Amino acid sequence: MQWFKVPTLVALCLGLSASLPSAALTQPYRHFDWQEVAPGVWFGLARSDDFQAGNVAIITLPSGGSMVVDTQDADFLGREILDKAKEVGHGAVRYVVDTDLHQDIAGGNAAFVRDNPKVQVIAHRNTCAEYPQKTIPRMHDRLPGLKQRLSELQATRAQMTESDQGAAALDHRIEGLKLYVQDAKNFQWAMPNVCLDLKPGQKKVITDGDRRVEIHYFGRAHTTGDLVVFLPKEKVAMVGDLWGQGSSYEFLNAGLDGRDGSVLETPLTLEAVRQLDFDTALTGHSPIVHGKGSLDDAISNGKQVVAQIKGAYDRGETVTELLQKMPLAKNTPAATDTPTPTQTFFADVWRTVVINGYEEIQFRDQLGMALPSAKIAHN
Ligand SMILES: [Zn+2]
Repeated sequence: MQWFKVPTLVALCLGLSASLPSAALTQPYRHFDWQEVAPGVWFGLARSDDFQAGNVAIITLPSGGSMVVDTQDADFLGREILDKAKEVGHGAVRYVVDTDLHQDIAGGNAAFVRDNPKVQVIAHRNTCAEYPQKTIPRMHDRLPGLKQRLSELQATRAQMTESDQGAAALDHRIEGLKLYVQDAKNFQWAMPNVCLDLKPGQKKVITDGDRRVEIHYFGRAHTTGDLVVFLPKEKVAMVGDLWGQGSSYEFLNAGLDGRDGSVLETPLTLEAVRQLDFDTALTGHSPIVHGKGSLDDAISNGKQVVAQIKGAYDRGETVTELLQKMPLAKNTPAATDTPTPTQTFFADVWRTVVINGYEEIQFRDQLGMALPSAKIAHN
């Protein structure tokens, strides 16, 4: 396998100076609940009242130090993960893996580079290529909305008393969002310095004593560069946003994200992931997943969505007609007159899934290409 290397780049994404928010501000805030899922393997589950969802994992290494899988949204969250990694890993974080290109996966990278300049920050080469085009501009774009959201939450909180239901959760959410906005003034972010040139079905293996860590690539799905970190002995797979369980939106559980991956290929890529022999899956947005039931649901839901889009295309329906026939997936919370920003965001993502799925089919049809068929993983 060939490694494609780029120099480490610490990018100042959203601000002008390089000073950091005071440690005193970040001390009381805790974003993650930690659980040891196998000896020396820790899952950081973002608390349900956090301002930003996104889970992470730490794999300790027998010779000292650790690997961190995903670094969450911002530098201050990266520092919280780093503190935990040093506590359980007894040494420096030697590897960071970004499982996709989204900010809630890679936003905390810089904290690890600053702490250990020798750290390998690993991503798929497609992810590396897309960070400057997609991730960094989006970091800028989302900031005004988050600032507005912070003001709205503060206004809501001002109407509440200490004893009101939800007041404590709202306080926590506001505190996290304030830290994010503060952090963003001087936002620091680090590019991966190891970009894996893996083809679908290929993997990179890291061994340390009796710890074997496999970093797999299965092809396009949620994004074009989704990585799976797999521990074959422990039968634990860290799968990022490839699929989920129990979110309110079936298309999210199915890993469909029309913005950055392939709607048509997602269920097929997930079938290849399914060949891994895991009992536990650690996902980006769900509590610990046991077994493969949710993955099977993701595959069949994804196939169903693709079949619906294909049927409409074959009947000659336009994408506008199709969107009217395919409202948000079935377990969507009841619509309200004034949708929340979260509902609006997911409605937009869903529209993108439908439109991109339709366009992928149209593109292949026009070029005389068959639809993608099942992939075979060579593990
Ligand atoms: Zn993602």
